[in-house]
Amino acid sequence: MIENLRQKPVFRFAPSPNGPLHLGHAFSAFVNRDMANAAGGRLLLRIEDIDLARCTPEFEAGIYADLNWLGIGWEMPARRQSEHFADYQAALDRLVARGLAYPSFLTRGEVKARVLASQDTGARWPRDPDGSPLYPPDDRDRSEANRQRLLTSGRKHAWRLDMEKTLALVGKLSWTETGDGEKGEIAADPSAWGDVVLSRSDAPSSYHLSVVVDDALQAVTHVVRGLDLFHATSVHRLLQALLDLPAPTYHHHRLIVGSDGRKLSKSERDTGLAELRDKGQSVADIRHLVGL
Ligand code: GLU
Repeated sequence: MIENLRQKPVFRFAPSPNGPLHLGHAFSAFVNRDMANAAGGRLLLRIEDIDLARCTPEFEAGIYADLNWLGIGWEMPARRQSEHFADYQAALDRLVARGLAYPSFLTRGEVKARVLASQDTGARWPRDPDGSPLYPPDDRDRSEANRQRLLTSGRKHAWRLDMEKTLALVGKLSWTETGDGEKGEIAADPSAWGDVVLSRSDAPSSYHLSVVVDDALQAVTHVVRGLDLFHATSVHRLLQALLDLPAPTYHHHRLIVGSDGRKLSKSERDTGLAELRDKGQSVADIRHLVGL
């Protein structure tokens, strides 16, 4: 009884069904499962399928098949993000109501043209930690009348966080890191990301917003994921602070790289789990391949 009342640590594996799982996913799932077991915790599965254009039922079925083959169990049911758009909308509405988010109308092509034009003059356009250009200030600086006119005309738009305004509201943020890179209390630096996207014109949420909302709704205490998402944690801590959500502990594990030394991608078939299974590799072989 007392055992049941004690709050158990909660871990989650959160793949996107936009391609077949590869060795990198197997590693992440193993590390999550092994850490959950060691902590006497629970393991949840979250299907991150907000990108309705790229995610398919076939890839989702592949995730279940691959995890079953690897012998990784999760608490049923898995949370499918596409069934919870109302939760992300509610979080976005709160930020909009506080004046912290604005509609952005520039297309990808328009942003690219602005960056190129600025580079032609010799200026260096600022880039985020992933190397993408920061969003130009055009939409943030629009007059309210102009903004309303564009919205009522039905122009396609995303919603973005007004980073400058937001940072003025929150104090210094940090997170507890136990992963394979820098460890300890890490100072968050959300400003490096500029006006991050909160919902897209073609998807009613963004990765950053939905991951933060779901980690809180699912009471996740330990986020275990690849080092490629280390810097994104700064944005996640900021959104948690704005939405009054608790901060989990973070563990960013090493990435599995291909023979070219680059991070694996879903288009490289030779490291795909289904492909390796079909070639007769065992689960022990997979653990060995990822260095476990
Ligand atoms: N869905 C993300 C991915 O497949 C992982 C997100 C996370 O673990 O926070 O890369």
